[in-house]
Amino acid sequence: MENQEKIKLGWFSYSCCEDSTIVMTEIMNEHWQDWKKLFDFRHARVLKSNNLMDEFDVAFIEGAIASPAQEEIVKEIRSKAKKVVAVGACACVGLPAGQRNTFTEGQKEAIDFLITRFGALPKVLKLSDVIKVDVELPGCPMNPDAFLKAVDALVKELRPQS
Ligand code: SF4
Repeated sequence: MENQEKIKLGWFSYSCCEDSTIVMTEIMNEHWQDWKKLFDFRHARVLKSNNLMDEFDVAFIEGAIASPAQEEIVKEIRSKAKKVVAVGACACVGLPAGQRNTFTEGQKEAIDFLITRFGALPKVLKLSDVIKVDVELPGCPMNPDAFLKAVDALVKELRPQS
């Protein structure tokens, strides 16, 4: 890796509880010494305040998509990322964050004023409803071993010499 550029990463969270973010930071306790040589965290609000939206080798996106603003930002991330990983069940299948999709008509009517007030989409979307997803990491939250396996596979693919 010495003669190669670090892998540029982004970590993003949308409509969700951010538990996979917590899992990722817990995993860092064991892996940060290797990761700091391998990865350039361009955008990860859980890790730093000075974040960049320029280019990513891999963008990890957690959470469902519940507003037009979120749709736009994930499209922007997609346009800047070589690989997009959907992290956790909310990103992969839209649930449990999108529980309101399963409401009865009466329940939907009862929350209608909130949908309007917050400018939310009529239906909560999974990430692949909005953009192309390269890898899915299901689970609520994601499984740490599956995450590490996916990270290893992406490193091998993006930096075969490392
Ligand atoms: S998948 Fe589960 S852990 Fe992950 S953001 Fe959604 S509710 Fe939270």
